[in-house]
Amino acid sequence: MFKKLLFIFVLVFSCWEKTYATTLVKEKVICPVCNTLINTLVVGSTNNCAGCDMDLFERAAGDDPNLFYPITCPECAYSGFHSEFLSDTTLPDTLKQKIKAKKAFISTPPVEELDLHNIPAWAKYDFIAQKYQLTGRSPLLIAHIFHSASWAVRSEDEPLSGIDSNTINSVDSLINKKIIRKELIKANNPALYEIQLGRKLAKIDSTLKTEERTLSSLAAIKLLREHGENKEVEDILPSLENKIPTEQFENLKSKLNKSIANERYFQEQTVSFLKLGLPEARENEKTVINYLCGELYRRLKDWGQADSFFRVAESLIPKNGRDPNQSWLIKCIRGQKQLLPKNNLKN
Ligand SMILES: [Zn+2]
Repeated sequence: MFKKLLFIFVLVFSCWEKTYATTLVKEKVICPVCNTLINTLVVGSTNNCAGCDMDLFERAAGDDPNLFYPITCPECAYSGFHSEFLSDTTLPDTLKQKIKAKKAFISTPPVEELDLHNIPAWAKYDFIAQKYQLTGRSPLLIAHIFHSASWAVRSEDEPLSGIDSNTINSVDSLINKKIIRKELIKANNPALYEIQLGRKLAKIDSTLKTEERTLSSLAAIKLLREHGENKEVEDILPSLENKIPTEQFENLKSKLNKSIANERYFQEQTVSFLKLGLPEARENEKTVINYLCGELYRRLKDWGQADSFFRVAESLIPKNGRDPNQSWLIKCIRGQKQLLPKNNLKN
């Protein structure tokens, strides 16, 4: 699982300007629990042209393939990946009975009240992670599924939900105007370019008129939320009070807070399973897992834990004979450690 991640940052994203998209294929699968025939979409092909967020969320140009990997049965909520709906899929009888009785998975609202024909991808990942816990799968695998759930929240939720469409169009035009295509193409990682642009837009520019400043803050929220830089989103949000209509502000605030809390719930689950799985990880995976724990704690605003895990990750990189394939990881560890607020850390 982590082997693939080792190469993400050494890729040159030269495909940015070409037309790349995720292709989806219609398929029928049969639920191994209740035999329901399910019409679903599976990923035919995808790409990583949109770069990678700093918690290693690999991003595609076009549809996010992560939203189409999990499948949930609309009748009984059995959930899994495509390969877990094939005819040779076997499950313990006790688990089948629990799923049929709608007692296997915990969710809010309860499973029997959910519209299973229309549930978000993060809920499907949540059910898969719960199934893997019930069937005793490895903590690192469960961590990866919870991590995918957190990415799905980020990818599915509209960052400016609650804002009127004219303002959203103006925000999009501003972002397009600010993106310098030449720089974007040159950037090794388009996702990082967008995060840095979001940070620039978040800075108060006193030469701007109030309306332009409001658009700039909204554009910063959009870019930073799309990449899960949620603390910065929370920092910008109060400045919009009284700058946009009250009802829109309250709507935006409530939806963003709910979405960020949901993402953080899955990040907490991820980090707890990563820590549980660390002793069983291969030596060459330990650096990246410690980095991920540090990065997730940074996103959870636990600066002390983030600093400790970044330090361990750094200490695991051999002083001599460094693997050139890991140079991206050294950059990540040092770069993300720099973002921790200095006055909250021990020397
Ligand atoms: Zn079913």
